Amino acid sequence: MLDTPRSVRLHIAIFGRRNAGKSSLINAITNQDLAVVSPIPGTTTDPVFKSMEISPIGPVTLIDTAGIDDEGELGELRVKKSRQVLAKTELLVLTVASDSTPDSFDEQIVNEAKSRCIPVVGVINKIDIGQGAAAQAWFEQSKLPFCRINSLTREGVDELKSLIVKNAPKDYLPSTIIGDLIEPNDVVILVTPVDAGAPKSRLILPQVQVLRDALDAGANVMVTREHELANALSSLKHPPRLVVTDSQAFDMVSKIVPEDVPLTSFSILYARYKGNLREFINGIKVIDTLKEGDKVLIAEACTHFPSHEDIGRVKIPNWLQKRVGGKLDIDWVVGGDFPENLAEYKLVVHCGACMINRAEVLSRLDKLREYNVPVVNYGVLIGFITGILDRVVTPVEKH
Ligand code: SF4
Repeated sequence: MLDTPRSVRLHIAIFGRRNAGKSSLINAITNQDLAVVSPIPGTTTDPVFKSMEISPIGPVTLIDTAGIDDEGELGELRVKKSRQVLAKTELLVLTVASDSTPDSFDEQIVNEAKSRCIPVVGVINKIDIGQGAAAQAWFEQSKLPFCRINSLTREGVDELKSLIVKNAPKDYLPSTIIGDLIEPNDVVILVTPVDAGAPKSRLILPQVQVLRDALDAGANVMVTREHELANALSSLKHPPRLVVTDSQAFDMVSKIVPEDVPLTSFSILYARYKGNLREFINGIKVIDTLKEGDKVLIAEACTHFPSHEDIGRVKIPNWLQKRVGGKLDIDWVVGGDFPENLAEYKLVVHCGACMINRAEVLSRLDKLREYNVPVVNYGVLIGFITGILDRVVTPVEKH
């Protein structure tokens, strides 16, 4: 894993009407010809993601979107995809061409950003062809910070970067996954099963991120499979400060780790880091009210190939149906897909969401709250099913 994962980068989305120069703006910011630029309105179709560094923020992802005023059947689909980008946006750059006047489309997108508490920065683009007086008046009236850019010569790009730095949310990601739960020189054991569901020759993202975070906190980290855990524990002079396991190994690991040693899972750490652990714990109450035939949604935020031991496709459905004592009507969504209408679901079971950013997880939770649909994540659900939920949330919740 050589690059900062996209899920922990600040997501900056470039919005605007067709031909406002969004793609050429991305090229100017990155100083590379990455996005296809053309004078024909509607050249950008699916959102385009580009990673770069903006000092002092660090790693960011720029997202080029289709024009918010696109028309026709295909155009409407493109607008829908652009609007979906709002769910993951942490700072929005609204681009207006200097020879045009902002209209209801621009106003709508600003209002939507405000309702989601997303900071907005304005750009008057293409200053080589016009003064942008109308756009300036509109940005001033809307009380939005803005700058002027000539994307061809990159004039104004430094000013835009300064505005981005000044307006970027400071708390888009909690500063640590595990660092506040441990002290320098503590011993932390990470239990990483290597089963058919594990990718070949590497650890998965949550394991790598927790490992790095624990090292940053000055801990001594021991990584082991569940089968070697008992030996690993007995090789230590003192008990470890914390054991973090894959939730799927809860049953076995909880029997090996002494009761007085704090135990949790990657997925529970992620529930706190990316979402809302308390909300997932509250969601668990619905499990024992589920009846045969109830609709349940299982959401996985990536498109990995499911194995015969797959957690989302096989294990969780089996555990849930065993508990309910009958067949459930289960739907699955993967990657960036999330249903518009959630009213039919009695429960949503979400994965650890390591591949999407916190804004997108929180936006999904907002939507579920709107529909009054309880939600749990994999770690909380497996903790409950194995009867150790209190034990595995306590080390994380007490902070
Ligand atoms: S299913 Fe979810 S937690 Fe698992 S790897 Fe994919 S995004 Fe991460």
